[in-house]
Amino acid sequence: MRILISNDDGIYSPGLTALVKMAAKFGEVRVVAPDVEQSSKSHSITSSRPLTVRRTKLPQLDGFEAYRVDGTPADCVALGIFNWEKVDLVLSGVNLGPNLGNGIWHSGTLAAAKQAALHGVRGIAFSTPVTTDEPDFTDVMPWAEKALATLLPHKQLPLINVNIPPQARGLAWTCQSFRHYDGAIIPGKDPLGRPHFWFSVRPIEEVEPGSDRWAVENRYVSLTPLRLDLTDEKLLEEAERKMPLIDCSSPGRKARAAATATEDRDPHAS
Ligand code: MN
Repeated sequence: MRILISNDDGIYSPGLTALVKMAAKFGEVRVVAPDVEQSSKSHSITSSRPLTVRRTKLPQLDGFEAYRVDGTPADCVALGIFNWEKVDLVLSGVNLGPNLGNGIWHSGTLAAAKQAALHGVRGIAFSTPVTTDEPDFTDVMPWAEKALATLLPHKQLPLINVNIPPQARGLAWTCQSFRHYDGAIIPGKDPLGRPHFWFSVRPIEEVEPGSDRWAVENRYVSLTPLRLDLTDEKLLEEAERKMPLIDCSSPGRKARAAATATEDRDPHAS
């Protein structure tokens, strides 16, 4: 099995080192990751200039092929898949910090896995809350390995978001928490007196039981299967019923909606 590894914390992140060592137990590993931190860059791609891919020797990772890219996580995965034939699986992380609930809209870690899924390759994102400057992955990686071993046979899941709490006590399937968050912008001043602004993102509502945030708060490893199609089929149907426009509800689209719910996807199908 060919496993491509990326992240959004940058190629020298200890989370990536830990993930490479763990993934090597499952197959042949290659790293293509951003040269600097790209956290919260979401799924942006670099379309206004060319990208460079440079062979990189990683400390603590002798013998692994690794490349750094002057681009985003999504760029790295696209290039990794382009330059390495028949990638079977893309792993992203382990992110230094959780990617839960509405936070996944901003996540570069998840975007790397999402980019894989867009290319028809399975993508799994790993994240863990980090509280110290020197994160210790000895407690986290056995759970990441358990999660990966659990997910691998489920080939119908093209995209999974995994969050590992400290001192985890089990694996749990979860849904994405979608409660509102406070995107407050906090103004301040730089040392020269010029105005600047901090962006703050924090959930402002209680966690929903069974959600990713709930699992991590209760010390369960959260496994959330995600999909690429964001269409809200129920609301679409309702809108068509209440405000009929041009009728394009072709049998093809209805079939697609049904298939999205039940399809047994081949990861290489698209
Ligand atoms: Mn990050």
